[in-house]
Amino acid sequence: MGLKLPIYLDYQATTPCDPRVVEAMLPFFTETFGNPHSRQHAFGWAAEEAVEQAREQVAAIIGAEPKEIIFTSGATESNNLALQGVARLYKAKKNHIVTVVTEHKCVLDSCRQLEEEGISVTRLGVKPSGLIDLDELAAAIGPQTVLVSVMAVNNEIGVIQPLAEIGALCRSRGVFFHTDAAQAVGKMALDVNAMNIDLMSISGHKFYGPKGIGALFLRRRPRVRLQAMMLGGGQERGHRSGTLATPLCVGLGEACRIAAVEMPAEALRLAGLRARLLDGLVGRLKHVEVNGDLDRRIPGNLNVSFGYVEGERLLAEMKDIAVAAGSACSSASTEPSYVLRALGVDAELAFASLRIGLGRTTSVAEVDYAIDHIVDAVSRLRERSPLWGMFREGIDTRVKTWAGN
Ligand SMILES: *Cc1c(COP(=O)(O)O)cnc(C)c1O
Repeated sequence: MGLKLPIYLDYQATTPCDPRVVEAMLPFFTETFGNPHSRQHAFGWAAEEAVEQAREQVAAIIGAEPKEIIFTSGATESNNLALQGVARLYKAKKNHIVTVVTEHKCVLDSCRQLEEEGISVTRLGVKPSGLIDLDELAAAIGPQTVLVSVMAVNNEIGVIQPLAEIGALCRSRGVFFHTDAAQAVGKMALDVNAMNIDLMSISGHKFYGPKGIGALFLRRRPRVRLQAMMLGGGQERGHRSGTLATPLCVGLGEACRIAAVEMPAEALRLAGLRARLLDGLVGRLKHVEVNGDLDRRIPGNLNVSFGYVEGERLLAEMKDIAVAAGSACSSASTEPSYVLRALGVDAELAFASLRIGLGRTTSVAEVDYAIDHIVDAVSRLRERSPLWGMFREGIDTRVKTWAGN
């Protein structure tokens, strides 16, 4: 068949760098190596020009102004800076923030830290779809609320929160709206003005850019201020000191340029592959449950649970495909995914779940191989599972009894 094994199907964890991105970065390691903040000579100017072009490319993909983009080391740093930076700066006037239980750990941990500092935090639950209830959000916002932080796309289940509605609500109530868009940028159309987004976190390695670079969009009109966390030379308008990594900035810019061009066609292609994957699984296996809203979801994500399968064994059976299980993300923990639990998925099913991420290099042949692989593994595990045996006997007994009456 000529497939290279194992097959990578974990695009929500990270993506390979696009070769075009690497190509664009290379000259900035060796030839154009100047410090982009050196204003006194041509080496610095050349690096600065490259960084500023990258800033324009990042701004363009979300409809922002280049001056509104701060380069960071990734979405973890952007989220830390957005939440802690805003909360600390406005603390004397307003001391309440609203977020959601299914956010990435870096958002939740920042909130916990802020609570230690006297900020109060409301954590909204989600519906079984994984989406928040807008009425609940409206009710949670009060006169002390400074910031609402709701992720654009969830990293486990891929569902898209109603960003425009949240943005409109926040704007009408005079509250800043931050969104962690690590899983959204390059996958779906985003417009910070149409959606009334005030701060947005971006990660390079989630959309074929390099690891170790990201950005924070920080609105200038109406102006959002924040307390810097990294102090020093005052780079990035004083919001984030430190010499910019020119090659990484260039790589992030190129990743944005490519995504902006290829997104519409790629989204359709991935939607087709995901439909094929889901049809293949539900066509050949019983008791397959999709976790989270299937339609309001980025096309490259599928998260499914398999009934009557022991979760711990499931991942061990995935020898030829690289996927994430329902206990992933909290390394070495035996807790089921807190995201799936928040949807109301029971612990057993949360353990027996797979997050399958499709991306730019995923082919039809790979999807077909994955279907066969998963169907075989689940069938094998069910044959060995006492639960499955009991379930089938239950059915058989019931049928017999009924027929006998
Ligand atoms: C990956 C991810 C992050 C962290 O991004 P890094 O750039 O790896 O720090 C934050 N939030 C979400 C939703 C993510 O998927």
